Amino acid sequence: MKRLAESHKITDFFGVNVFNDKVMKQYLDEDTYLRLKEVIDNKGTDLNRELADKVAQGMKEWAVANGATHYTHWFQPLTGTTAEKHDSFIDFNNEGEPILAFSGKSLSKGEADASSFPSGGIRATFEARGYTVWDCSSPAFIKKTEGSNAVLCIPTAFCSYNGDVLDKKTPLLRSMQAINRQAKRLLKLLGKDVENVYPNVGGEQEYFLIDKKDYLKREDLRITGRTLFGAKPPKGQEKNDQYYAAIKERVSSFMAELDEELWKLGIYAKTEHNEAAPCQHELAPIFSTANIATDQNQIIMEMMKKVAYKHDLVCLLHEKPFNGVNGSGKHDNWSLTTSDGQNLLEPGKSPQENKQFLLFFLAVIGGVDEYANLVRMSAACPGNELRLGGDEAPPAIISVFIGEMLEDILNNIEKGATSEKRKKEYLKIGLSVLPELKKDYSDRNRTSPFAFTGNKFEFRMVGSSDTLSTPNIVLNTITAEMLDRMCTEIEDGLSKGETINALTSRIIIRNIKEHKKIIFNGNNYTNEWYKLAKERKLPILENCVDCYDVLTDPKVIELYKKQGVFSLKELESRREIYLDNYIKTIRIEANTMLSMIKTQVLPVVLKYEGKLAERTVYLGQISNSVGTVHKEIIETIDSNLKGLYNVSNELEKAVNEAELIEDIKEQANYFNNTICKYMNTAREFADNLELLCDKNEWPFPNYADILFYE
Ligand code: ADP
Ligand code: MG
Repeated sequence: MKRLAESHKITDFFGVNVFNDKVMKQYLDEDTYLRLKEVIDNKGTDLNRELADKVAQGMKEWAVANGATHYTHWFQPLTGTTAEKHDSFIDFNNEGEPILAFSGKSLSKGEADASSFPSGGIRATFEARGYTVWDCSSPAFIKKTEGSNAVLCIPTAFCSYNGDVLDKKTPLLRSMQAINRQAKRLLKLLGKDVENVYPNVGGEQEYFLIDKKDYLKREDLRITGRTLFGAKPPKGQEKNDQYYAAIKERVSSFMAELDEELWKLGIYAKTEHNEAAPCQHELAPIFSTANIATDQNQIIMEMMKKVAYKHDLVCLLHEKPFNGVNGSGKHDNWSLTTSDGQNLLEPGKSPQENKQFLLFFLAVIGGVDEYANLVRMSAACPGNELRLGGDEAPPAIISVFIGEMLEDILNNIEKGATSEKRKKEYLKIGLSVLPELKKDYSDRNRTSPFAFTGNKFEFRMVGSSDTLSTPNIVLNTITAEMLDRMCTEIEDGLSKGETINALTSRIIIRNIKEHKKIIFNGNNYTNEWYKLAKERKLPILENCVDCYDVLTDPKVIELYKKQGVFSLKELESRREIYLDNYIKTIRIEANTMLSMIKTQVLPVVLKYEGKLAERTVYLGQISNSVGTVHKEIIETIDSNLKGLYNVSNELEKAVNEAELIEDIKEQANYFNNTICKYMNTAREFADNLELLCDKNEWPFPNYADILFYE
């Protein structure tokens, strides 16, 4: 592979396309730099016009020196992806001469016609004005694509003329403020003053890579991102020979270029490996604050697609591109860290005595229990419905895995028994040539939707194509709420003369009692768990259509209002946008399916059946016993053909009828139940037919060809 960077040493080119701390020091005068740092570090400094002007000046100089001709306010509208509108730096001066201009105003605020972005009724179309507002806590970067203009991208929030939130960044920033407020409050009550507390996030991203030539031949992949047809291939992932397997050359050259591009953008791409399904892979960057991690995950997804294409590959981010093998998720690793670097979820040497750890740990667990439906909602998107449950991803029941050791500790605390000090145990492998290893506090549990993994929680339910913003808004807010309740109780108690020690012990014990029902350390893929969850009365939200109603549940409305994250109007609009998106996604899939059936599958089957029929007549002339196999095959083909034809007519009728349903929830339900059912049946018939016809004439590449490419 041609390396894009001149040097092979990562540190020589890491972050060259980012307006990071080092660059800021170089391009801003000392006073401007320090003031901007204070704004970024949340120290109460104002980001006024004069400061913005000075930063803009430095940022422009750096961007132009690095080849940028344009700038854009880069934002995350409610479509779930990113949006940008490019403006060039070009302007003219009083003499009419061209100059490169970029003011503090252009940096801080942009105006975008908001009418084409979803707003869920927040904004009437005549009020088209939308504003993008600079988020200086996420660094600006330069996007360079061979053969096109380099663009300075400024991460921004997006809101309406009235200040209603129209994006996925603003509520995330608000939720970070909420948790910062409450975590600092609790720490203070425990006798510790810290400047800030940040949620840290590491997002592991799963994806598929397939050959571009196969992709181009499949209308379903091109239009919907997943295969709507495809008979089971002779081999899937049953031999477990893909996971962590050696990476084939084509893919490793893709990964090398991807890493390099990400490093240049200041993204710490760290771990890459093959995943469980054939041609499935994963990339994990090193964690950063929730806001930056969310932005970077968007960049990672965009870059994966772009780089893959250059290698004649296509990157599929859909949650379930292929039936019968695992789909893709995104693991949201989440922890809380103080500005002086202490991880508040670090159990330390003796967690049973570490009240600070126990309080934060239980705040997360309590939040997940109290708002289990909201946590489930945060991973609800149409593609993810095809993945959750089964043997590949956590089921739609929220529970928390904490491992035996911590469960023991909580049980003992609850019973009032003094836990014997559990020394960190050592792994006993029994070979003196291997180094001695300290055991982690918890084993891995790949079946749990929400697992404590040593000093962080890993939310494993999120869909691969989804933004990290939604789950992190939820985790930040529910934890903030539980911390808030703890603080209020402590403050009340203290004012009545109780001791902090007695108060925290009481709160810890009560939280264990109240929320232990959400803890489950067993195998979440089993029926036993399903039964047990029912016994424990844990909520089970099987489909994403129902999940969206959670947004306007009075308890959730109250939560978001109290923590200052969403207004009622914003929640109502989001519910509507999600439902609308669900309907549109399924409608597009249904129409794509119909188009492929009518113009590709049926013509091929009819032709093949016709050919066989002609031959049967011909062979029948020889004797009655000749041509019987032909007849048998024709009959099987014909029964599937009839089935396919009939169900596709039903499907078409249903798609038309769906348009007449006025209530959006009812319409979404109709798509979820009736239309999806017809689609599943149509697929069954078509997949049967695929195995009955001549492969050379089948209108698109089959699973074996796509999944096992060279
Ligand atoms: P595992 O293999 O157990 O999933 P890794 O160490 O590979 O764990 O980490 C997975 C992801 O979690 C990475 O993105 C990593 O940067 C992130 N991560 C590690 N520690 C933390 C933390 N304290 N907070 C948030 N994310 C973290
Ligand atoms: Mg993981």
